[in-house]
Amino acid sequence: MAGTGKKIVKTIKVDLDKCNGCRGCEMACSAYHATPKYSSMNPSRSRIRVVMDPFNDEYVPIRATDYTKAGCDGRRVYTIKGKEYSECSFCGTICPTRDLFFDPDSGLPLKCDLCEDEKEPLCVQACPQGCLTYVELEEEEIEEAKLGDMEIGLKSLVDKYGLKKLADTFARMSQKG
Ligand code: SF4
Ligand code: SF4
Ligand code: SF4
Repeated sequence: MAGTGKKIVKTIKVDLDKCNGCRGCEMACSAYHATPKYSSMNPSRSRIRVVMDPFNDEYVPIRATDYTKAGCDGRRVYTIKGKEYSECSFCGTICPTRDLFFDPDSGLPLKCDLCEDEKEPLCVQACPQGCLTYVELEEEEIEEAKLGDMEIGLKSLVDKYGLKKLADTFARMSQKG
């Protein structure tokens, strides 16, 4: 479904000059999204990851955006302080060409939900350098229906196992009550 009008776009601005690679944002995000909340901290379950190059003192936090079924043909190469990075290095897409932003146990995608129940996202609160700023912008543009966490998870399960297998599993589960 699509429409037009004003909408509030919530996002996080990043000041790269302030980031020191402490990875506090990864810890906070993974703890907040643990089940139960704050029961564990594991950066591999974080929806923000910091691309690290300590030798060049370069740190770039990347948030997980949308899930895609297949990788793109992005070929851009970025050169920072003489070191080359591929387009994938700074891409927030949850993409099957790499392990980033997939839960290590379930294999399900981990999309940033901007900690929607909180006034300020946990990664923003946790950053000791003030590198991350939560902003709400009003934009006039076409609104596309967005997939929620549950739909993204289901979509990836359908991609992985096929609709029939998934439907059979749901039917079996519902019979068990
Ligand atoms: S990680 Fe991003 S840039 Fe790389 S193939 Fe996937 S979508 Fe393209
Ligand atoms: S906004 Fe919330 S979900 Fe998104 S990266 Fe930060 S802590 Fe994680
Ligand atoms: S918490 Fe802040 S300074 Fe530390 S890695 Fe994350 S963005 Fe960078």
